[in-house]
Amino acid sequence: MPQRPLRPCKKIGCINLTRDKTGYCELHIQEYLEYLKMQKAERDKRYDERVRRIRDKQYSEFYKSDEWERTKTQVLIRDKGLCQWCLVKGIVRPADVVHHIVPIKEDWSLRFDLMNLVSLCHECHNEWHSRVGKG
Ligand SMILES: [Zn+2]
Ligand SMILES: [Zn+2]
Ligand SMILES: [Zn+2]
Repeated sequence: MPQRPLRPCKKIGCINLTRDKTGYCELHIQEYLEYLKMQKAERDKRYDERVRRIRDKQYSEFYKSDEWERTKTQVLIRDKGLCQWCLVKGIVRPADVVHHIVPIKEDWSLRFDLMNLVSLCHECHNEWHSRVGKG
């Protein structure tokens, strides 16, 4: 392998010569690698944010969709408009929301699955979400 030519270190103000492929001298390679690592972390963070924004948009569009409205109506009819969890406890209370048992964030394919949907009152729904988290 032919040796790389000696070049001045790319670090501004550094007078050392280097043959390293990064273009930095021994003193500054580490600093340069740290900088690359930081840049990558920054890029990853921005990427995660972008993915989250796209997903949030997907969810809010889902909840606004006609198909969701239709599915919700179907579930409420099936459950006779009553909170199913209250019913188990022997309480008859009108349902306010249709809830995903497996959150759409965990399994997007189950979003219209009637088996994955249940009518709940606000109280049961809030209680579940305060225990398990949003979804
Ligand atoms: Zn240097
Ligand atoms: Zn309830
Ligand atoms: Zn829910």
